[in-house]
Amino acid sequence: IILKNVLVCRASSLAPTILNRELSTQTGRKLERKVALITGAASGIGKATAEKFISNGAKVVIADIQHRLGQETAKQLGPNATFIPCDVTKESDISDAVDFVISQHKQLDVMYNNAGVPCYTTPSIADLDLAVFNQVMDINVRGALAGIKHASRVMIPRRAGSILCTASVTGIMGGLAQHTYSISKSAVIGIVKSTGAELCRYGIRINCISPFAVPTPFTINEMSRIYPHIDAEQLARMIHKLGVLGEAALEPSDVANAAVYLASDDGKYVSGHNLVVDGGFTSFKRLEFPAPGQVL
Ligand code: NAD
Repeated sequence: IILKNVLVCRASSLAPTILNRELSTQTGRKLERKVALITGAASGIGKATAEKFISNGAKVVIADIQHRLGQETAKQLGPNATFIPCDVTKESDISDAVDFVISQHKQLDVMYNNAGVPCYTTPSIADLDLAVFNQVMDINVRGALAGIKHASRVMIPRRAGSILCTASVTGIMGGLAQHTYSISKSAVIGIVKSTGAELCRYGIRINCISPFAVPTPFTINEMSRIYPHIDAEQLARMIHKLGVLGEAALEPSDVANAAVYLASDDGKYVSGHNLVVDGGFTSFKRLEFPAPGQVL
């Protein structure tokens, strides 16, 4: 009788997982019945990911500091998107966002800590503004860490979940951005490894994605400070030209595809990983040899 009860218990706790896998195999929708919370999803990569998650069957809660834009985005994405105001520098906002997801949907399957800001200060370490450093770390690092903390709070008892963070190629290689921003993204990669070592015990996966430069309000605004007379379309083309993979251009939807993979059962044995989406940029440096006639 005990064995029978154990088997029945096991079968009933496994049933939703198996059912979800069956459903996603049948429909081709990889996130059927999953619920995701995405920070910084009012625009850019977060918005593209929310859209892709929804088209794969998920319900998405968009958490962002931009209230009006967040509401507009949720409306645009349809009934499976909801907006909640959230400033990731306030732990209580993140905690409330997680509790909101549970109250609305009873579960949190995917937490994507994506909110982030660039750093506009001087590039020299000798002039580093430590007050700005604190502000950027507060959003890019502490914000992500608080997201992991509160997602874990509800995922550990279920012994299931997938956590994602947006890092960056600037966290892997020096010289691609200001120190403050690079350091913040290196820290995100470190956080994923450190927290993953504990979360794996509960079957919770945590990974980050490191994109190369993508045209979003983030990069367009940054570039327009350097090139104030160039319009957004041209700046986007300039950003695309920084890539190394032939004519291929990195778009927010490419990062969203990586997020779908990591969030879904396709990535069910991937954890502690930094999925670099850079067309190979950080893997090699091509040497351009001068033509024979140009050699001194
Ligand atoms: P974006 O500006 O379009 O989106 C960032 C979002 O984060 C915005 O909606 C913004 O309102 C939100 N946000 C900012 N501060 C917040 C806070 N305190 N609380 C809640 N939300 C906040 O830019 P994006 O390019 O989509 O950036 C998304 C992430 O991708 C960031 O972490 C960024 O560092 C990272 N990233 C971007 C690029 C790129 O080239 N665009 C490359 C690598 C990594």
